[in-house]
Amino acid sequence: MALLVQKFGGTSVADPDRIREVADHVLRCRRRGDDVVLVVSAMGKETDELLRLASEVSDVRPGREMDMLITAGERKAVALMSMALAAVGIEAESYTGSQAGFVTDTNHTNAKILEVRAERVKEAIEAGRVPVVAGSQGMSTARDVTFLGRGGSDTTAVALASALGADACELYTDVSGVFTTDPRVVSTARKMHRISFDEMLEMTAAGCPKPAMRSVEYAHRQRVPLHVRSAFTWEPGTWVTEEDPDMEQAVIRAVVADLSEAKVTVTGVPDRPGIAANLFRRLADADVNVDMIVQNVAEGGITDISFTVPHADLDRALEICEAKRAEIGATSVEADHEIGKVSVIGAGMKSNPGVAATMFETLADNGINIEMISTSAIRISCVIAEDQTDRAVQVLHDVFELDKTEF
Ligand code: ASP
Ligand code: MG
Repeated sequence: MALLVQKFGGTSVADPDRIREVADHVLRCRRRGDDVVLVVSAMGKETDELLRLASEVSDVRPGREMDMLITAGERKAVALMSMALAAVGIEAESYTGSQAGFVTDTNHTNAKILEVRAERVKEAIEAGRVPVVAGSQGMSTARDVTFLGRGGSDTTAVALASALGADACELYTDVSGVFTTDPRVVSTARKMHRISFDEMLEMTAAGCPKPAMRSVEYAHRQRVPLHVRSAFTWEPGTWVTEEDPDMEQAVIRAVVADLSEAKVTVTGVPDRPGIAANLFRRLADADVNVDMIVQNVAEGGITDISFTVPHADLDRALEICEAKRAEIGATSVEADHEIGKVSVIGAGMKSNPGVAATMFETLADNGINIEMISTSAIRISCVIAEDQTDRAVQVLHDVFELDKTEF
């Protein structure tokens, strides 16, 4: 008998049939003897819809009011879910984030969890009820309703699992687990049975959209085992857990692509101490999220600096660079929208030399030019042309034999 926190994403509860299917699943789990706590996201694309509605009503959208609006999506979903559970004979009780004891900071639209006072949820479990908690929300220290940000329901589920000492946090979604690469791009991609927190974190940082990075970090810190699995086939998915020191590590486990970034290049930058510091401080102050940075070797006292930023931050980055260009006497500021980042990830690369060489050779053999490179202990990323990204993912998946390896 286990205590399971089960989180259902928007597609898993998109319509009445789906909500009833989730209720049937909870019934099966309970019959097996498990205690279940649900965390539910807004139905389908409801969050996007509420955001669109707000922007149609007004140009002035205070964070406090946005949070009151957006959290309504999850509130609706938990009430309906509890009714579906009642219909299969399960006593359930819905809770808003505030009722479930989520205390957050006052940072509206992107609040951080400060504490989970889970007594009420615990009492419900002890009384044999199924608590159904609204994802991605809480109440701030100023007693206002807060939203934890996009994808925040994963974090709600992990935080609750940690507070309750649950045996696992199951993240139900529309894919059957974590794959060696995107199966829509590479048909031979394989579902992994298990992956370490470190590798999962590198994958999400490299552009793997699910689970949300923040929730993986939280789970890692609190040692909550995650199980990413399908709400459509209900088959076992991928476990994200501590690294098992006894297990032989695969050199490479996954190839991840990211098309969400653009590249900025400042040319003719004087090669003096403090110039880069100054530029990147200004970018940081403007909340521009800089990823990769490359500075060329200086020639004749001048150099080029390139960096990547999310498309959403590009205009702000260009404005800042343009202002700096005039100030420091650099030659030009250029933007490239058509870049892709491809990354290979695997804890085994720590003890296996040659991964970078194989990656670069494979890209070269396929006529793919590398524009930028960055590495961590267990990841190598290359920026290439956007229209070559799918091909790069395919050939790297092949060369590292991810289609053949059993994880
Ligand atoms: N419904 C919210 C969103 O789409 C929260 C979540 O699904 O995690 O961002
Ligand atoms: Mg969602």
